[in-house]
Amino acid sequence: MSAHLTTVAGVNVDTRHWIGGERVASAETFTDVSPVDGSTLGEISRATGREAAAAVAAAKAAFPGWAATPRAERARILRAVADGVEKRLEELAVVETADNGALLRSHRRGVIPRVAHNFRFFADWLLELEHQDFTTHRGGSAADRGHTNHVSWDPAGPCVLITPWNAPLMLATWKVAPALAAGNTVVLKPAEWSPLTASLLADIAAEAGLPAGVLNVVQGYGSEIGDALTSHPDVRRISFTGSVPTARHIAASAAANLTPLSLELGGKSPLLVFADADLGLAVDLAVEQYDNAGQVCLAATRILVEEPVAEEFTRRFVEKASRLIQGDPRDEATDIGPTIHPRQLEKIDGFVRRALASGARAVIGGHRGEGQYYAPTLLTGVAQDSEIVQEEVFGPVLTLQTFADEDEAVRLANDTRFGLAATVATGDPGRAERVAAQLVAGTVWVNCFFVRDLRAPFGGSRDSGVGREGGTWSFDFYCDIKNTVTAPKGWENH
Ligand code: NAD
Repeated sequence: MSAHLTTVAGVNVDTRHWIGGERVASAETFTDVSPVDGSTLGEISRATGREAAAAVAAAKAAFPGWAATPRAERARILRAVADGVEKRLEELAVVETADNGALLRSHRRGVIPRVAHNFRFFADWLLELEHQDFTTHRGGSAADRGHTNHVSWDPAGPCVLITPWNAPLMLATWKVAPALAAGNTVVLKPAEWSPLTASLLADIAAEAGLPAGVLNVVQGYGSEIGDALTSHPDVRRISFTGSVPTARHIAASAAANLTPLSLELGGKSPLLVFADADLGLAVDLAVEQYDNAGQVCLAATRILVEEPVAEEFTRRFVEKASRLIQGDPRDEATDIGPTIHPRQLEKIDGFVRRALASGARAVIGGHRGEGQYYAPTLLTGVAQDSEIVQEEVFGPVLTLQTFADEDEAVRLANDTRFGLAATVATGDPGRAERVAAQLVAGTVWVNCFFVRDLRAPFGGSRDSGVGREGGTWSFDFYCDIKNTVTAPKGWENH
């Protein structure tokens, strides 16, 4: 077997970059370790600025050809990528679980099917987009009487896409699919803690007939190659999902060329439980926040409960949360897997220890589990301005606070520097509407959580992000939007 192949759960994965339609190795490698059992999954090529520049050059060279490829043909190839993902669903699912420790059953049933859907959805939307080109006749001033405006979405150029480890392939393809559909070429830099499925995606895309250089994958540390990618003058778009500090760094780096940015960042989202809510549903919604060991940007980690039902809510929450099974993410019965990395575990534990030291009480959890696991935790007695209420933990740690009325609920909900999402549990549609209107959040869910229609805008306010992706918003971001104004016949320009 080639020195550049590793076998993970029976699946062969190439550990090299994918640049210009070829596998390229770096002199140095980094070790990819499984959070499931601490085993080494592979020695992965560790890019330097040279490989980063080569990937941008490959994307630049491939751009004119892909941009000129008829939309129907681009859509056909993207659908073939979706077919390839579906054909290899089981392989992608087992490799992703080995690499990031999230539940295999979620990967099989939800996350990897969504990867295929990302490609199919944006292929379909691309063809719709063509029909959205429109012509307007505008009256009004003497200067624009009867002119036609033809608006087109033109491919922008090479895009750099930088993604995190908590849902590696799903979040990567949420960017790759619209960028490619729009006629752009891509350099994807997956997170160094979960590099494997991006490599499999390169294989699938090549098999689907995506021309060389249209999709490039560069493996390595963001701190080492990030700047070479984000400050490159040939890069026309940067889309990043990850943490706020990295986003600030990328924004500063991109400023050199004023490269347009899309930033999908962290959150500290609230779940508001009103006394008129279906309490069983509210408890289900709250317990769901432990999914993926709480390593979910959208997680509603601040539970806010109206005083009269707080005791009953807590009792039922503890009852349900205590039944959760924490263990091997490959087992069907498991509800909560390990944290991604010893460093992440350390970070989570630090947050909780400091909270407990400053007076918080752990209703459940509040400590590490075996190995790389952290016990699902609910903390009460937390002050609104405390670190545990204000900062993103990115682990299975929830806080519970109470409120007296709707005004206080909204005030507490909005009182962080984030604004990614919010969930409202109430039986009163009027209240739902009133409260949703006041919440600062890119997405508000009422009596539900995590429901995503890819046509809808997705993104965060405040420190949770810049811009929106999804449906037409993705194309607006990944395209240069052009308006061509044509004078009517016989019109004189004076
Ligand atoms: P991170 O910022 O540490 O890393 C994300 C990516 O950025 C990785 O690929 C990393 O290699 C790269 N990177 C690091 N330094 C870089 C640099 N200087 N230049 C360029 N790239 C660099 O984030 P993480 O720990 O991987 O992910 C967790 C964070 O992501 C959490 O804050 C979470 O809320 C957020 N997140 C947000 C969303 C969303 O859609 N809003 C979704 C998932 C995760």
